[in-house]
Amino acid sequence: MIYDERDTVFSKLMLKNMKDDSKIKKMASILEDNKNVEDDVYACDLIVKQYKKVSEDLHNEALNMKINSKKTNIKIEKATNLIKEFVRLSGIDQIGITKVEKEDLYTNRGFNKNNFEYGDKVEHKFNYAIVFAVPIELDYINRAPSKELFMGAMLAYAKGSEVAARLAMYIKSLGYDAITDCHISYESPISFLGEKAGLGQMGRCNAVVNPKYGNRTKFAAVHTNLPLNLDKQLDFGLHEFCELCRRCENNCPSKAISHDCSYDENNKKYWKHDEIACFKVWKSTGFSCGVCMSACPFSQGVDENLVSKMKDNKEIMIEIIKQHQKKYGKRNHIQKPLNFMPNTNNKRCK
Ligand code: SF4
Ligand code: SF4
Repeated sequence: MIYDERDTVFSKLMLKNMKDDSKIKKMASILEDNKNVEDDVYACDLIVKQYKKVSEDLHNEALNMKINSKKTNIKIEKATNLIKEFVRLSGIDQIGITKVEKEDLYTNRGFNKNNFEYGDKVEHKFNYAIVFAVPIELDYINRAPSKELFMGAMLAYAKGSEVAARLAMYIKSLGYDAITDCHISYESPISFLGEKAGLGQMGRCNAVVNPKYGNRTKFAAVHTNLPLNLDKQLDFGLHEFCELCRRCENNCPSKAISHDCSYDENNKKYWKHDEIACFKVWKSTGFSCGVCMSACPFSQGVDENLVSKMKDNKEIMIEIIKQHQKKYGKRNHIQKPLNFMPNTNNKRCK
């Protein structure tokens, strides 16, 4: 599969020279139709502003930091443990390491950011990626779609970018090169890298579902030439589970999540995603939705013992779905806003 960042929704939306693209025309009209939600977006932005600033400052520091000329001689096993501990100390417990192939990266950049310009080719410089998943808090997810959801997502992006910047600087101080791959500037369609690093499987919802946090995560990574041990890709039976579950599909307000699965050129199962329909809901609710995150049983937490046994076991899968249905009904949805949220006209849907 070839990934070009210029094809992503957000890249296209930022470009004025793509007026002829019918998809973009549609999106632009959606933006025009929903001018009145900007206050909600703005209020959330004010709250996350400081977190974003810290991560952006650190990101620039990491980018400009010189590599220590004295290379630390360290065995691969120890280096792997140290790197994972570094990330774990930031409170993140889902960490994986994978090999980076050229095909894992975007071919071209979709934004003018940092030292890069729109259309620049993405260089394949590093063989290793340390990928980690930052969970979005349940209190935020379970209020989706709302300002809280938007805020939770932005905070997770900021945290991922901050930890990635710190890790890149740590690796440079060890005498190796490193670059961040995060919300501030992506090198890759990072979900696929997360899947390769064993952090979950791509689910029906068009996101990686982690066994512990479901799809309520944001990924960040650091690419490096520091040799590290690799983690294995994970198969905990999610694709079969998604066939039985369909909770994201049934809860999606825009029908963006497909009912039938498709197969790629490697015969790997996936579900198509209607990004225009999804985006329309984001805009109508204040630039966020996230209902599919709250609907996923794994986001709400599934008994570890059951998760470890569910692969190839339909009965256990049905038991997980039954337990989840009994506890949360259609989905876990909290209507009441968090008590510190600004008093704006927040739109909440069932
Ligand atoms: S974010 Fe909302 S609209 Fe988009 S796929 Fe998920 S549930 Fe559907
Ligand atoms: S909600 Fe169910 S169908 Fe959707 S991604 Fe999660 S497990 Fe799969």
